[in-house]
Amino acid sequence: MSDVLAVSGLKRSFSQGGATIDVLRGVDLHVGPGEIVALLGPSGSGKSTLLQAVGLLEGGFEGSIRIAGEEAARADNAGRTRIRRDALGFVYQFHHLLPDFSAVENVVLPQLIHGAETDVATKRAEALLSALGLGHRLTHRPSQLSGGEQQRVAVARALANRPALVLADEPTGNLDEGTADIVLAEFLRLVRGEGSAALVATHNERLAMKMDRVVRLHDGQLS
Ligand code: ADP
Ligand code: MG
Repeated sequence: MSDVLAVSGLKRSFSQGGATIDVLRGVDLHVGPGEIVALLGPSGSGKSTLLQAVGLLEGGFEGSIRIAGEEAARADNAGRTRIRRDALGFVYQFHHLLPDFSAVENVVLPQLIHGAETDVATKRAEALLSALGLGHRLTHRPSQLSGGEQQRVAVARALANRPALVLADEPTGNLDEGTADIVLAEFLRLVRGEGSAALVATHNERLAMKMDRVVRLHDGQLS
């Protein structure tokens, strides 16, 4: 089957205090359907820069990014928005949930934006949250949830629209080690159950080993 993600020759530089730093120096990466890939590298190695490019959140790079068969790097604004909405899900280190909405509403909203009926979206949100052990937290607001629970809601939200590819940037980086292990295991189980692929940035070798494959970002290239 064709790749969910095919990145080739990706380059990204930043100017910092008059100097130019080449953060990505020709990155090639393929992720197959349902494959969970760890993007491992130390802090500052360019993991977030790579995920932002693949997530079509930032321009300014060279190279090709094919998402679900479509050349996304050269799509116009409307095309990028559509690819993000239809094919991608995002999880960040900090949950970025809407503070005035309940857990279930935070998972329903992206589905409504995607065109789902409210009752269908609500059932799916409840099912995803229940699968993450949050069946008793559906009407809680983010501020009423623990850090681990907030990240679980963010995971449910990322999967709400059945994305072909989930991009996760240090998804458990804000949690203590024990909670991080549990939330990561639940994240991986749910992503596998849903059949999505995932690209998960982490600086934690131990967590990376729990994924299907590990790629290492070093000197701006993957190995
Ligand atoms: P990681 O996620 O692996 O910690 P980042 O992708 O955040 O690494 O950063 C990689 C390098 O790119 C760092 O040296 C960082 O300072 C630099 N960088 C990232 N974003 C910007 C930006 N918007 N402007 C200038 N430099 C940046
Ligand atoms: Mg980062």
